[in-house]
Amino acid sequence: TRTPVNVTVTGAAGQIGYALLFRIASGHLLGADVPVSLRLLEIPQGLKAAEGTAMELDDAAFPLLRGIEITDDPNTAFDGANVALLVGARPRTKGMERGDLLEANGGIFKPQGKAINDHAADDIKVLVVGNPANTNALIAQSAAPDVPADRFTAMTRLDHNRAIAQLAKRTGAQVSDIKRLTIWGNHSATQYPDIFHAEVAGKNAAEVVNDEQWLADTFIPTVAKRGAAIIEARGASSAASAASAALDHVHTWVNGTADGDWTSMGIVSDGSYGVPAGLISSFPVTTENGSFEIVQGLEINEFSRPRIDASVQELAEERDAVRALGLI
Ligand code: NDP
Repeated sequence: TRTPVNVTVTGAAGQIGYALLFRIASGHLLGADVPVSLRLLEIPQGLKAAEGTAMELDDAAFPLLRGIEITDDPNTAFDGANVALLVGARPRTKGMERGDLLEANGGIFKPQGKAINDHAADDIKVLVVGNPANTNALIAQSAAPDVPADRFTAMTRLDHNRAIAQLAKRTGAQVSDIKRLTIWGNHSATQYPDIFHAEVAGKNAAEVVNDEQWLADTFIPTVAKRGAAIIEARGASSAASAASAALDHVHTWVNGTADGDWTSMGIVSDGSYGVPAGLISSFPVTTENGSFEIVQGLEINEFSRPRIDASVQELAEERDAVRALGLI
C-alpha cells in the first residue's frame, strides 16, 4: 500500500476548512488513489470545533483517510508535511488599519513559515488562502530560507475559475471550452483577469467577445467583486467555492496542466512581464511533475499593461509595509 501524503490545513475549524477537509479526504486534492493523513492546525479557541469536524470525518469512513491529528502547535502541524494549505488568517475587523492587519497576519504566517522551514518534508508545497494571501505567502516564504521559494504559492485560482464562469456565460460556451485565461497580480480588487490570450472553443476569446466596454465595465469588476456579491446574497462568504479552488490549485500543481492550457497561480516572480523579482504575484503557469513554469512570450497590449502594473504596484506597497514592520 502507498504511504499516505501528509496534508496540513490551518484554520481547519473555519468555514473554508469545513468545505475543504471532506473533499481532501475523498481524494479531490491529490487523486482518487492517493491516501492522505490530515494535520489540523487551529488556535486554542478553535481546537474543540476542529475536534468536532474530525469526528465527522471519522463518520464519513473515507477509505483514503489514514489519520487525523489536531494541534495548536505549528511545529507539530507541519512535521513531515508534504502539502500545506494555509487557510486560517486574521480577518479585517471594523476600524482596523491595513498596517494592523498586516502585522496581525505577520504574527501568524511568520512562525508558520519557520515551522515549515524546520519541520516539513523536502517536497513541501504550500498554498496560502488566508488573506491578504499574496503578502501572507511572502511573509511565510521569507521565514523559510531553506525551502525553495517556488514552493510558496498564493491562491488566485478562485478568481481564475470565476473569470472562466463569467466568460462562459457571456459567450454561451461550456466552461471546459475555455482555456488559457490569466489572472495577473494580487488576489484583491486590483487583480486583472486577462482574456486577450484566452480561447473559447479554440477561438481567441477577446475576438469572440469583441466588446472592450464589457470587459472594462462588466467582466473585470464582476470577477474582482464577486466575493462581496456572494456575501451580499448568501449572508456569508464564499467558502465552498474557495475550498474548491484550493483543491484545483494543488491538484493542477501536482498533476499538471492539460496540453495547450495553463492556469493562474500566485508565485514568486522571477522578473517576468515587468513584475519585480521576489513579489508573490499571479501569473499564467504551466505545471508538470509537481513543478511549474511561467508562460513566456505573451504580448501585453495597451489595455492590459496599466491594469497589470496597478495590481503589481499594490503588491509592492504591501511588501514595503511588511518590510517596514520587520516581517520579511
Ligand atoms: P474562512 O474559513 O471563511 O476564511 C479563512 C481565510 O480565507 C480568510 O483569511 C479569508 O479571507 C480567506 N479567503 C480567501 N478566499 C476567500 C473566499 N473566496 N471566501 C472567503 N474567504 C476567503 O474563515 P473563518 O473565520 O470561518 O475561519 C478561520 C479559522 O481560522 C478559524 O477557525 C480560526 O480559529 C482559524 N485561525 C487559525 C489560525 C492558525 O491555525 N494558526 C490563525 C488564525 C485563524 P477574508 O478575511 O478576506 O475573507
